[in-house]
Amino acid sequence: KTFEDCGFSPQLMNAISKQGYEKPTPIQCQAFPIVLSGSDIIGIAKTGSGKTASFVLPMIVHIMDQPELEKEEGPIGVICAPTRELAHQIYLESKKFAKSHGIRVSAVYGGMSKLDQFKELKSGCEIVVATPGRLIDMLKMKALTMLRATYLVLDEADRMFDLGFEPQIRSIVGQIRPDRQTLLFSATMPRRVEKLAREILSDPVRVTV
Ligand code: AMP
Repeated sequence: KTFEDCGFSPQLMNAISKQGYEKPTPIQCQAFPIVLSGSDIIGIAKTGSGKTASFVLPMIVHIMDQPELEKEEGPIGVICAPTRELAHQIYLESKKFAKSHGIRVSAVYGGMSKLDQFKELKSGCEIVVATPGRLIDMLKMKALTMLRATYLVLDEADRMFDLGFEPQIRSIVGQIRPDRQTLLFSATMPRRVEKLAREILSDPVRVTV
């Protein structure tokens, strides 16, 4: 299987080869067709598998497909991750691919000035990468709305639960329209994560690598 098979745009293909990615990793081979078809997905995969690009590349396609891209405000893609380190890595990976399409990415996590983040979000973005606690803070401050969000990724869901973020995750999901596409990635599937997946995903396809 190749990146060409996925129908990515020429700009995206350029960005992919600029990264030196020659062929999709196993999680990417499995995830791309499912996610590009609009299905929800549960991905059981660890860091190092290439799972970030497995949700970032289809997210770029999803955003470029939005007919009302210019009209509304707020992010279209929302990615939640357990730690600022992981959120930052996802931010960097997203930016590489977003840049080629003029898509704006904002990072929202602890350790950065809330006022600066507030201002950045106010200036607009199509993708937000966040830790759950700080994203809730920004939503409370009305730095952004979720009205335009249609693509939600929960990355390392098991770790977010371990860190006690379940209430924040539920609150964030509750603010996003139910007809969104939802992607849940986790290294393990403890019972509580299974329960959340049952509640917030619709007919998810499960892939394991
Ligand atoms: P991740 O599991 O998302 O943290 O990715 C692990 C590493 O693999 C990162 O350095 C990515 O940039 C890299 N990577 C992701 N997809 C590919 C690919 N298709 N070919 C080569 N490297 C990749």
